[in-house]
Amino acid sequence: PNEKVLSIQLVPFDSTRKLLLSRDITQLERVQTVHRDFVANVSHELRTPLTVVGGFLETFADMPEPDPAMLKQFMPMMLEQTRRMQSLVEDLLTLSRLENSPKNVPLDPVDIDALLDTLVVEAEGLSQGRHTIVLEKNSRHGLWGSEKELHSAFGNLVSNAVRYTPEGGTVTLQWRDDGERSVFSVRDTGIGIPREHIPRLTERFYRVDRGRSRNNGGTGLGLAIVKHVIARHHARLEISSEPDKGSCFSVSFAGEQLSER
Ligand code: ADP
Repeated sequence: PNEKVLSIQLVPFDSTRKLLLSRDITQLERVQTVHRDFVANVSHELRTPLTVVGGFLETFADMPEPDPAMLKQFMPMMLEQTRRMQSLVEDLLTLSRLENSPKNVPLDPVDIDALLDTLVVEAEGLSQGRHTIVLEKNSRHGLWGSEKELHSAFGNLVSNAVRYTPEGGTVTLQWRDDGERSVFSVRDTGIGIPREHIPRLTERFYRVDRGRSRNNGGTGLGLAIVKHVIARHHARLEISSEPDKGSCFSVSFAGEQLSER
């Protein structure tokens, strides 16, 4: 990965001589590889649900009369695959919007209390009573930034905590001060993440366990979205985790992002 990629060209210099030009295109190659991988990943993620839905529809199309019992049996599976494609496209649009937005977010006042309350309601909706959801609020600060983007980033962390925590576990949302910084964190008592995976989690489509992520409705893009939003708010993301014990994702803000309450 640290090898340099050079482009070598022989160009006419004058009537008798030629010039050897060498250009370092390492960065360009890298960008192109990331782009190619991304397109391959998106295509792969769409192919499976499309094959499933297409397969069922073909079966029905071949019948003179669609069999009601079969329709009843296959409809939920088609619906599930369609939802999977919808989530993927939604997340892709969110990512693309973030990547094409100006580098700095507008500094609007964020109603952090309302946001935290909404996140708790959303966590309860996702959990369906299978987890204990706790909210701890003891920061002196409010936030400046984009409420919509922060909602999407924090929401992804909360949804991951619920999705990767078995029934009976606890998910704790916290907004607290830590010296000069204020920290939003989501802690869970779930499956945890082996240490070697942690540095790569925010890469697009990086998953510790593909099957598990897909089965619980994951697109593999949530933490990539989180990373973008956090960078735009000059915040820091910290991840600590222990397999079978749980994980904690913290986003800390400082300076001009913080407001007095
Ligand atoms: P996904 O849609 O797959 O959840 P994310 O980008 O949100 O995608 O997360 C990337 C991967 O990080 C997940 O596939 C999962 O392996 C791991 N992960 C994220 N949050 C948690 C968590 N709270 N507990 C355990 N693993 C997690």
